[in-house]
Amino acid sequence: MSVTILVVEDEPAIQELISYNLKKNGHVPLCAFDAEQAITMVNNVLPDLVLLDWMLPSMSGIEFARRLRREARTKSIPIIMLTARIEEQDKILGLDAGADDYITKPFSPRELIARIKAVLRRRLPEISDEIIEIGGLKLDPTTHRVFVYSADKSTKPTELTLGPTEFRLLHFLMAHKERVHTRAQLLDRVWGDHVFIEDRTVDVHIRRLRKALENVDKDGLVQTVRGTGYRFSVESEIGVE
Ligand code: CA
Repeated sequence: MSVTILVVEDEPAIQELISYNLKKNGHVPLCAFDAEQAITMVNNVLPDLVLLDWMLPSMSGIEFARRLRREARTKSIPIIMLTARIEEQDKILGLDAGADDYITKPFSPRELIARIKAVLRRRLPEISDEIIEIGGLKLDPTTHRVFVYSADKSTKPTELTLGPTEFRLLHFLMAHKERVHTRAQLLDRVWGDHVFIEDRTVDVHIRRLRKALENVDKDGLVQTVRGTGYRFSVESEIGVE
């Protein structure tokens, strides 16, 4: 999986080391030396994850994390704090500020990459490359293919033909199965940041997705939750099961 990672670190040598290792692992680093610079960057591009040094000049890492958590646009970005401090009290402070994980300096590149992967898997399952299999559908993010299996898997699977948006939408819904998403949330997470499109665009693509699923008798998996939004669910829509 390749993601955009904002690195906020005031020590040039550490920033460079992190940036080098992120690139080596296929990620796209955006580097800032302080929180003010990071704020400007976040206003331009919403990163998928933030690696945040605790001790920064002027605004501290903790303050910056709290700021990200306060804003609707940035509140769900995963944050990993980088810190030289190891006291438990500080860790608690950081967790209160909304950090998802901690890395204590000095750390190895291998540890850094492993922690990033773990946090992304937990927080943003839709950007993972892992194959998802639910309700007779098997979605492969790497090949962008979706197969439909019969209940006993006795017959050959059928391949589903989906447009790129429908594929991303299905991937997101399957990665967060059983949860209801509003149209605004889907626009944010599936269409991406800074895209000014209307809520009803979501309905158009949901309709296309359902149409494709209808051909294989799986349209019941994508459900409308009246007045709220949509969800992917293996439970029957009317809830008689
Ligand atoms: Ca520092």
